[in-house]
Amino acid sequence: MADEMVLDTSALIEWPVSEISGSFIVPSQYSELERISPERLEMIESIGVIQAVPGGESMEEARKAAVGTGDMSGLSSVDMSLIALALEKSAVLVTDDYRMQNVASHIGIEWRSIRESGISEGWIWELRCVGCKSTQPSPELPNKHRAKFGDCPDCGSELKLRRA
Ligand SMILES: [Zn+2]
Repeated sequence: MADEMVLDTSALIEWPVSEISGSFIVPSQYSELERISPERLEMIESIGVIQAVPGGESMEEARKAAVGTGDMSGLSSVDMSLIALALEKSAVLVTDDYRMQNVASHIGIEWRSIRESGISEGWIWELRCVGCKSTQPSPELPNKHRAKFGDCPDCGSELKLRRA
């Protein structure tokens, strides 16, 4: 039997339809897909994917892992749900997102990339101020803006994610 898979939204758009059938997605991806590609959504609905919502325990485990690796500030709530779902279903996570791959590696989730080669080792990230160079703690919750990490509470300069 083939491995079960959890697909991120890029995978839903780019993977061959035959590969997608029977994979897991989270319900909030439907609205993402509706916005990006309504035709694709229609096709995917007709071939059948399994919608599932990860339980609180796996969400918490994924959350702790993302805080621990420092990736949390670069992840959305959909990203976090997909990681938790892959964990819960012991499924392969299909994503090109390096942060999702990194968190997955740290908690033993197998992942596969869509077209890029993916990361080759696990990384730890820290949120560092471009002004005073202070290191700020990883946020506890997913990021609403993805590439914006906020301002330094000490000096007000921009924060960036850097490898620790
Ligand atoms: Zn600062």
